[in-house]
This record gives sequence, structure tokens and C-alpha cells, in this order.
Amino acid sequence: MTHARPTILQNSLTNLERATFLIDGEVPAEISDKLRQPVERIELSIDPQLSDGRRHGYCAFVVRHSTALGPSKGGIRMTPSVSLDDVSGLAMEMTWKCALIGVPFGGGKSGIVADSEQLNPLDKETLIRDFTRHAIRHIGPQTYVPAPDMGTNERDMGYLKDTLSSALGQATTQGCYVTGKPVILGGIPGRREATGRGVAACVVEALKRLGRKVEGATAIVQGFGNVGSVAAKALAEYGVRLIGASDLHGAVYHEKGLQVAALEDHVNHTGTVKGFPSGMAIDPAELLTVPCDILAPSAAASQITAENAAKISAGLVAEGANSPTTPEADDILASRGITVIPDILCNAGGVYVSYLEFTQETQQEQMSEQEVNDRLQRRMTEKFNEVWRLSEERKISLRDAAMYLGVKTVCTALIARGRLS
Ligand code: NAD
Repeated sequence: MTHARPTILQNSLTNLERATFLIDGEVPAEISDKLRQPVERIELSIDPQLSDGRRHGYCAFVVRHSTALGPSKGGIRMTPSVSLDDVSGLAMEMTWKCALIGVPFGGGKSGIVADSEQLNPLDKETLIRDFTRHAIRHIGPQTYVPAPDMGTNERDMGYLKDTLSSALGQATTQGCYVTGKPVILGGIPGRREATGRGVAACVVEALKRLGRKVEGATAIVQGFGNVGSVAAKALAEYGVRLIGASDLHGAVYHEKGLQVAALEDHVNHTGTVKGFPSGMAIDPAELLTVPCDILAPSAAASQITAENAAKISAGLVAEGANSPTTPEADDILASRGITVIPDILCNAGGVYVSYLEFTQETQQEQMSEQEVNDRLQRRMTEKFNEVWRLSEERKISLRDAAMYLGVKTVCTALIARGRLS
């Protein structure tokens, strides 16, 4: 019998329930109800005129889950299936991620229901600009600061910034309205690579803690997009061998290893890993179950489920994506001794470097890529080890430890604001 995959929101709520159970007695009991609800959930209908001369209707969402620690922070997802519930779940995850990694932001997220791969560049730009005009009241350095997510990129963030500054009648925006934008517009070097680099930093720490060798370890990456391809490249620098990679169109595998730079070139030319000459085609679902040391799901949510968790043959799962493992699958992986580095820790490098971009713009400075990478590496290592120590002390999973730290920090801020007594 096949089960429906749980939604991102269901996964997030279950993880929150587990965290509030662990925190029980340390913060007021009403906390769970309070943290389930976002502070703002917006639905937008937009109808830009595209290059065929017609108006096309799109739905879009903005959710601000929390402002306890600061303005809401989170990317804009553009996929055909993104829903208001998905965006709500992702915004909630951002709240814990920002708190855990130690940046003064709350959680937020946006969604645009559109297939970015089917839009020509001009139409995508038009859609991003139209979304920005409609969402303008909800975006700002003190309210919600967007960034790229699945289906959007640095270029789109440049259009967003331009649309906002034009609307204000100014050459630029005062303060940081968006992160992950081009460096020439106030972006920060290394932001595009930050999430993938952070994933690699966590993997290396985890392998050390588990007493396993880094050099020569094998990795499989699901979703060879921004996060997945950079994680593969950063891991290769540590001597890790990429043996499989997939995307929406297909998957490739080679037990001796795939050349990451050549695979990246192939994707840049063809738009997919499919057809990579030195790899063998493999069913993308089967690729997840191939034996390897590191499995990095770096694409969609709910990919490791109760259906396939018993077949996962990796020693370590590093969640580059948000919510790729369902809570049921988490329990199965734990019972099989497979360590999972949870998303709110593993892929937090992006929002950490977004924070550096935010401070850089406020102070009108420019950090070097080396400085950004050094600070990212230090923060990821420090937070990984904090989570690891707590998980050992309390004999809980890394996800429960990370959630405990994230939720507790948000509660402490709410108490300090007098919103929780
Ligand atoms: P992206 O659009 O650059 O890449 C996504 C990749 O995943 C594409 O190659 C796509 O074809 C592939 N994909 C989508 N569905 C798939 C499926 N079912 N099976 C296999 N491949 C599939 O997106 P991204 O920015 O790399 O984001 C990937 C994930 O990482 C998302 O879950 C996102 O929320 C998360 N994330 C991204 C960032 C960031 O800084 N970009 C930060 C934190 C978390």
C-alpha cells in the first residue's frame, strides 16, 4: 500500500511537537499553540502581461512565521506545486534555523506558483517584478527580507531590488530589502555558494565525530541545483567522491565517481544531469537507495519517507533541502543507525551569509569572499558541535537537539518581549 506523502507543514508541525515535548517544563505550556501559527499569511493574485501579449494569472504567497528575534527571513520558491501550506511550513522552519544558527531574524517564506523552467527569461523577469510590486507592503529590512530558493536565483533578486528602488523613486534601497542579490547591487561574495558549502562543513564534522574517513568517502546528491552542485564541489575538495546525482529530469551514477566540474558544465549546457556521458543512467528513486557514505537530499520535501527509509543504504544523510525526511522516516533511519544532519542545521549556511550581507549593506561595507567563507566555516562548525554535544548529553537525535535549541531561543526572545510569561 502506498501512503500519501506528508506535506512540509505536517512535517514541521510534528517536529515542533517533539521539540515542545523536550522543552516541557522549561517554558510556559501555551508555547506550542503560539508557535504553530504564523504572524502573517498573505495570498496574492497577480496577472502580468507576458511576451505573448496576454495576461497570465498566478497565485503567490508571503508568510511571516515569527518576528520574535527580528525581521522575517526566507527565500522565494517558484515551482508549479508550491502551496500556502508549504510556504507556511517552510517559514516555520526558517524561524528555528535563524534562531539555531544565531542570526537576529525570524522565519518567513514566499511562494510563486509557476514553472520557472517553462518561462523564458523575459517572462520570468516580468513575473518577479509583478510579484514584487504586489508584495511591496510586506517586504522591507524591518519586516520581511527575501532571498533565492528553489526556482529563483541571484538575477531574480537583482530585479526585485530594482523594482523596489524604482517604486520608491530612488537609485537604491536604504538598508537591506533582499539578500542573495548580485554583488554589484550590494550582494555579498560567496552567498550563492554558502548553503552548499555549509552542507559540506557539516558533513566533514559529522564524519569526524562518527570516526569515519572523509577522504575517499562516497556521496550521492539528489537535486544537482544550486545547493546540491555546490555541496558536491565543496565535498570533492575534501576528497569525497560523488558517485550519483539527480534532478527533475533524470539521474546518473558511476561507482568510480563522477567529475563534478564536468557534470556542472554538462548541466550548464543542457539544463540537466541526464545524458552526462561518463555516467550511467539510473532511476532517480533507485539512486536514493544505492549504498554510499553520504546521501545529500538537496531538492524537494518528503523524499525520504516511510516507503523508502528501510532501503536507504547511506551511513549519513545530510539534508541540503528543506524537510526532505518525514518524521516517520526519521524514526526508521534512527532505528537503523543512520545519522541525519537536520535541515535547520545542515542548510543554514545560506541564511548565515545572508545575515552577513544584511549587516554589510547596513554599514555600507564590502566583505571579501575569503572573509565570508572563513566566518561561514567557523559558524557551521561551532553550531554543528553544539547540536552534537546536546544530542549526546540528552541521548536524542540531532534533529531533536537542533529543534530544542532553536525553539528554546525563540521562547527566550518572546519572554524578553513580554509576549510569553
Ligand atoms: P534549485 O532550483 O537551484 O535546484 C533544485 C534542483 O533540484 C534542480 O536541479 C531540480 O531539477 C531538482 N529537483 C527538484 N525536484 C526534484 C526531485 N523530486 N528529484 C530530484 N531532483 C529534483 O534550488 P536550490 O536553491 O538548490 O534549493 C534546493 C533545496 O535547498 C530546496 O529544498 C531549498 O528550499 C533548499 N535550500 C536552499 C537554499 C539556498 O540558499 N538556495 C538555502 C537553504 C535551503
